Amino acid sequence: MKYKRVLLKLSGEALMGNQQYGIDSERLEQYAMEIKAIHEQGVELAIVIGGGNIYRGVQAEASGIDRVQGDYMGMLATVINAMAIQSTLEKHGMYTRLMSGIKMEAVCEPFIRRRAVRHLEKGRIVIFGAGIGNPYFTTDSTASLRAIEVEADVVLKGTRVDGVYTADPEKDPDAIRIENLSFDEVISKGYNIMDMTAFTLCQENNVPIIVFDMNKPGNLMSLMSGQENVGTLISN
Ligand code: UDP
Repeated sequence: MKYKRVLLKLSGEALMGNQQYGIDSERLEQYAMEIKAIHEQGVELAIVIGGGNIYRGVQAEASGIDRVQGDYMGMLATVINAMAIQSTLEKHGMYTRLMSGIKMEAVCEPFIRRRAVRHLEKGRIVIFGAGIGNPYFTTDSTASLRAIEVEADVVLKGTRVDGVYTADPEKDPDAIRIENLSFDEVISKGYNIMDMTAFTLCQENNVPIIVFDMNKPGNLMSLMSGQENVGTLISN
């Protein structure tokens, strides 16, 4: 495999599948099988999952809820998704640990960096729930930060499109996928990969990001095998 230790970021919205809300069990199953395939090859895997399918902090203000309160609600939403993924991975025989940025002993361990690294070394899949535990951040920032903390080789950002395109591939048939970009090019060309906090954390700490379509079966395995026909690699 091309990378030994990876941090996989999945958006909460992707878990909805074709539903309007919540968690689609078929999508969960599909993700579990994709993850199992690379894990069986000896890849050390950490996962950060978003919460957008259940709640986003920015929604809060519109409904008259305090923003910070809303952000905590968003963080709790990520724990629900993380528990769903944990359960599905375990059903398929993988060993997992859920570590939370907010203390919640009944359902998960607190995030302790050294312990997270130990789990990874032992081949357990570590799922990071509750973001970094602070409001005004996103799960993309969580992915970058945790990747740096556990010394992951790369952040794999699973999205609905297979990387960065020269134009919007859903609107322009001539749009082509860009294989490699530097962090500086992403900024100068205005491509929207992650929020700036998440993005600069990776840039400054030299952690490459691969943007790829997690919903296309086999894609995760292809990019981990080093095939160049998948996703866009962003590096220094
Ligand atoms: N959130 C937060 N701090 C964090 C991570 C998440 O406050 O460290 C909140 C924030 O309100 C965010 C919500 O949790 O909107 C859900 O996460 P996100 O929107 O990143 O999920 P995704 O878009 O990936 O589904």
